[in-house]
Amino acid sequence: TDARLTTPNRRPEDVDAALRPKSLDDFVGQKAARDNLRVFTSAAKARGDVLDHVLLFGPPGLGKTTLAQIVAREMGVGFRATSGPVIAKSGDLAALLTNLEDGDVLFIDEIHRLQPAVEEVLYPAMEDRALDIMIGEGPSARSIRIDLPRFTLVGATTRQGLLTTPLRDRFGIPIRLIFYTVDELVSVVTRAAGLLGLAIAPDGAREIARRARGTPRIAGRLLRRVRDFADVAGAPEVDAAVADAALNRLEVDKLGLDAMDRRYLRMIADIYRGGPVGVETLAAGLSEPRDTVEEVIEPYLIQVGLVARTARGRCLNGAAWTHLGLPMPEGMQG
Ligand code: ADP
Repeated sequence: TDARLTTPNRRPEDVDAALRPKSLDDFVGQKAARDNLRVFTSAAKARGDVLDHVLLFGPPGLGKTTLAQIVAREMGVGFRATSGPVIAKSGDLAALLTNLEDGDVLFIDEIHRLQPAVEEVLYPAMEDRALDIMIGEGPSARSIRIDLPRFTLVGATTRQGLLTTPLRDRFGIPIRLIFYTVDELVSVVTRAAGLLGLAIAPDGAREIARRARGTPRIAGRLLRRVRDFADVAGAPEVDAAVADAALNRLEVDKLGLDAMDRRYLRMIADIYRGGPVGVETLAAGLSEPRDTVEEVIEPYLIQVGLVARTARGRCLNGAAWTHLGLPMPEGMQG
């Protein structure tokens, strides 16, 4: 899956950092999230407090890391970043926590993937700003408590429900990010083109925005690939025709779906007559991990109404048959 142009997951060639907005005002879209963060950061600053712990959840590539950095900047504090799978032992987390400066933001991406033993260290750290460390073994073992600097934990995860309840309960500020509208992505693409020094016509920006699956990271990536085609073709600017030709060559269709999405849809159509079919079965058929199917492929297909998630499994909606150019089976209603 990582070879896909339209996977929203971070890939090595993404130069995300260069395109990151640096303030809440620069951050496009997600109005509810921005408004809330603005209130909570100003209130905390006015009181001289650190910001309460923040949980950002939503599909990859929507701006969770970017918002975490912006929170640190708005609060005027340092920013440290790590991720759930990287913290192997509770000692690693303890080292990170004891090295924080007063008020720092500690960003933990994929926080649902923390080891249970590591997660246990986080509870007192988040709640009481303390570390409980066990010394010795057996009957002489005892626990000592170390005070930590004040800090704000910003956790990121794709779905809130992936977190254990005790962890979820310790975040005072849960914030949900949603897919961007086409208009919002037009702003993202136009802004990114400006930063890249690329001439783009409004209809060119819109063509890329419409095919970016509601995701700024994908918009940025498509923009860079389209720029390559425009450079090679000697096009003076990226207009709708240039963008369309480039995206067709890249096999990104009008809805922004790629070959993997179409395989997913065709499997339900051809083999299961439109469903319902269980996600495990689909994952096996596609040779993809179930997580990838649920977190990377399906959210956008569901968002645009091609697929429905039902209690008995996944089903194609009428729009999917139309998109695939296939007749709907007898007796089905879109
Ligand atoms: P996540 O952590 O949710 O996977 P990131 O914060 O790394 O996503 O964002 C991915 C890319 O999309 C970055 O290049 C970032 O600059 C860009 N981006 C995300 N959100 C926005 C936004 N609201 N406005 C402009 N660019 C954005």
